[in-house]
Amino acid sequence: MAMKLTEIFGIDVFNESLMRERLPKDTFKALKRVMENRGEMTLEVANVVANAMKDWAIERGATHYTHWFQPLTGITAEKHDSFIEPAADGKVIMEFSGKELIKGEPDASSFPSGGLRATFEARGYTAWDCTSPAFLREDAAGVTLCIPTAFCSYTGEALDKKTPLLRSMASLSKQAVRILRLFGHGDVKRVECSVGAEQEYFLVDREKFIKRQDLIFTGRTLFGAPAPKGEELEDHYFGSIRERVAAFMKDLNEELWKLGIHAKTQHNEVAPTQHELAPIYGSVNISTDHNQLSMDTMKKVARRHGLECLLHEKPYAGLSGSGKHNNWSMVTDTGKNLLDPGKTPNENIQFLLFLSAIIKAVDDHADLLRLSASNPGNDHRLGTNEAPPAIISVFLGEQLEDVVAQLIETGEAKTAKQSGRLETGVKTLPTFSKDATDRNRTSPFAFTGNKFEFRMVGASMSIAEPNTFLNAMVAETLKEFADELEQAEDFDKAIHDLIKKTLTEHQRVIFNGNAYSKEWEEEAERRGLPNIRTFVEAIEVLVNPKSIKLFEEQGIYSAAELYSRVEINYENYSKVINIEARTMIDMVMRQYIPAVAEYMKALADSLNSVKAACPAAEVMTQEVLLREISAKLTEVRRALASLRDTVEEAKKIENASERAKFFRFSVCPKMDALRKPVDCLETMVDGRLWPVPTYGELMFEE
Ligand code: ADP
Ligand code: MG
Repeated sequence: MAMKLTEIFGIDVFNESLMRERLPKDTFKALKRVMENRGEMTLEVANVVANAMKDWAIERGATHYTHWFQPLTGITAEKHDSFIEPAADGKVIMEFSGKELIKGEPDASSFPSGGLRATFEARGYTAWDCTSPAFLREDAAGVTLCIPTAFCSYTGEALDKKTPLLRSMASLSKQAVRILRLFGHGDVKRVECSVGAEQEYFLVDREKFIKRQDLIFTGRTLFGAPAPKGEELEDHYFGSIRERVAAFMKDLNEELWKLGIHAKTQHNEVAPTQHELAPIYGSVNISTDHNQLSMDTMKKVARRHGLECLLHEKPYAGLSGSGKHNNWSMVTDTGKNLLDPGKTPNENIQFLLFLSAIIKAVDDHADLLRLSASNPGNDHRLGTNEAPPAIISVFLGEQLEDVVAQLIETGEAKTAKQSGRLETGVKTLPTFSKDATDRNRTSPFAFTGNKFEFRMVGASMSIAEPNTFLNAMVAETLKEFADELEQAEDFDKAIHDLIKKTLTEHQRVIFNGNAYSKEWEEEAERRGLPNIRTFVEAIEVLVNPKSIKLFEEQGIYSAAELYSRVEINYENYSKVINIEARTMIDMVMRQYIPAVAEYMKALADSLNSVKAACPAAEVMTQEVLLREISAKLTEVRRALASLRDTVEEAKKIENASERAKFFRFSVCPKMDALRKPVDCLETMVDGRLWPVPTYGELMFEE
């Protein structure tokens, strides 16, 4: 029987209302204090919570529990333990202690640590993050109680993406509260960072997926000639959703709702078979967990429907790739969004101060933001005229841009442009007031009404780092502001001066035009904005003195933690490209060359038979084709040999940074060089002999 949405929402989550219901009052209160950063967790509290969690989980059919964490691989990890404890006379009882809830000890040596493990200890601990609720997951192994945790080394170094995120949230809150106090908001105890992550993805028929090694091993197609039709008719975007996909989406929504994830909007995206899912925003810690869970669930549910979900940033060359729009704002514990400008932003000094802080932070640390959205896959998007460019700029929209211009000029903004009414000229349609600002789809960091939308993040990436970095850089600026303003004798004057000075110094990062254009690239260079073109060139940014200072001063990452991440990024890049290159070599040797050879033989046989039957026949199509194909095949063979040699050379490079750069600048071009003649052969060879599904088959016969 179909259950109502309100009945299934959150049924798999040990959420606050369940805790209130199932925990003794005192325990609940104590836990709440810890969740709000006002108290320490005790074993006593943990024991009671663990017991209540276990009872609930067992009622729901759970046999196992796992600490669920987010190691530096960027995906989630878990290690399952059953609740069983031996009891007298060979029986078992189901136990789950506070100690097991608080602390786990997975083998840290199986996860990337970027050298942290070697210098310290092999031990790693997972520690319960009580700010993100535990949940149940059901799969073939049964029902498991999942406990969100942080993952640290023996000496407390963060080996995961969550710990720094939690640290950055505390830092941002602390500094924002200081600023709010200056504006007389003594009632605000905490400021939370709110995030809504829109997730793009592709779906592909699983039968076809498993015929393509490139999709299986690398998540993207390494070969493929363009189909006769791409996205040029713009008929897929917001188009009606096909039955099979609709069934997938329905199932997906239900699964997400059960996990308490507010899946809200879904629509078709620009490219054929591309879709998007957007949740309602929430506290960044939970949004991050939810985004990881959503990605997992998408993959799982897709398989149930005979589909495969591709989260790679660029599954198909020549078509739009997938990103993740990270919508970010700051909200007080009294429920006020600090990025809400109100109707007259020119009079909203507090808003303008926060706005200035963000503009300065983004300008100061544009390079870090760039890095936070970089991975091997996103190199195929950023700066290639489809996704945001690799240059960071801030879009404010007409209204705020005008306010900022007035502030820079006179230190005061007297007016704010107001929106008009939307008139369609059709009497039966309603008229309504428009937003004060139109959208700009090309900006990497755009103000969208009451939040900033960071659009560079890649579809497969965790949103933990982009938000950790954002929080850190904004907190740093707010700290500077608070230090200065707390000392000011004339607060009103000091704040006006500060806003004017900040905007004047950082206006170079504001850009409201078309960020995909060549002119902007040139203009940005004149303005001195960084344009870091590739992931490998961005990695080093993490350990420049400016970044180390930013993170160390706030206790978000230690220098050692930063160096470990540099190491991991380089390693990851080299590994990914190495796998791609090897997959290409394999496909060419074992699939494409045999298929081409078979076609050549067919042509040759045909040529010989025709010649025998009709010696007088003039120019033979088969012969011309044979010659052309043979020439292409020679190109393939040469490119293949060259790629193989280059990969071998790469392996010999010991330094991680040099190796990664070699992969980027020497191996990648060879991969492109191999792809070209193969794609060309695809358009020449008998379609019945082509060994893998083509772009057309992958996208239009879904
Ligand atoms: P679009 O595709 O036009 O960018 P969507 O409605 O698909 O817009 O997505 C907007 C996202 O922004 C949603 O996830 C939404 O919950 C989120 N969002 C809205 N307001 C805020 C806010 N104040 N802070 C953070 N995220 C927000
Ligand atoms: Mg968006």
